[in-house]
Amino acid sequence: MKKNEKTTTDLSTKHFSRYGEFLVSFELSKYGWNVYNPVYDEYIDLIIHKHVCEDCGKNWNLTPALVCKKCGKDFSKSLKKDVIAKKICSDCGTEMIGNKSKCTKCKSISLVSRPSCNKCDGEVEMIDHSCECGSKKYITKFRTIQVKSSRIEHKDGKSKNTFAVDLKPRDLIKDKYHFFIWCLVDDKSLPHFLVMSVNDFKRVMGNSLSGISFLKDQDRQHFSSKDFGKWKEFLNKFDKLE
Ligand SMILES: [Zn+2]
Ligand SMILES: [Zn+2]
Ligand SMILES: [Zn+2]
Repeated sequence: MKKNEKTTTDLSTKHFSRYGEFLVSFELSKYGWNVYNPVYDEYIDLIIHKHVCEDCGKNWNLTPALVCKKCGKDFSKSLKKDVIAKKICSDCGTEMIGNKSKCTKCKSISLVSRPSCNKCDGEVEMIDHSCECGSKKYITKFRTIQVKSSRIEHKDGKSKNTFAVDLKPRDLIKDKYHFFIWCLVDDKSLPHFLVMSVNDFKRVMGNSLSGISFLKDQDRQHFSSKDFGKWKEFLNKFDKLE
């Protein structure tokens, strides 16, 4: 490594924790989630939200589409300049293109706008989005997330090849829409994500959940940074959030 190069180990604990929240946020965006920060940080670090097709689960676009009635050409995606601004005189029927306020033939001012397709001259209209699968129904999902971040533990300047995550009884929010995401950053500054529900966490913890150290807020999960130990089943399990 170059002498002046900095790594995540140079971040303070507080900044690293925030860094982890951002990494998790960007990762969630890849799965189509919109990510929000609560005003107060009380066990919930992120609120996430998405719209998906009720039938096939694909991400849903809430904004209406601009589509030609006749040939079906979709102008929604940056092709708006291809929509022709046509005006039709309601008195004599003359069709005009561009920003006219009077009929070029009979001088009538009663002109009707008709956005038209540049391909087939059909009328372009705004229609509600529907899914490729044909469904017209979507559902809205909300989830709450607590992020726990860890770097590799070191002792006397040597890597212990372990991560450590602190969990406390008060973190065990009893809600099926609440999840933990552990952001584990290795020595190359690469993040790994473990995604689990509160019940997943309880199941893996088993008896140690009623152990004194957990109840006294002194429990710290240490596990291998190579294979994530008993937590490896949650690696990249972002589908749990669905
Ligand atoms: Zn669908
Ligand atoms: Zn058309
Ligand atoms: Zn006219």
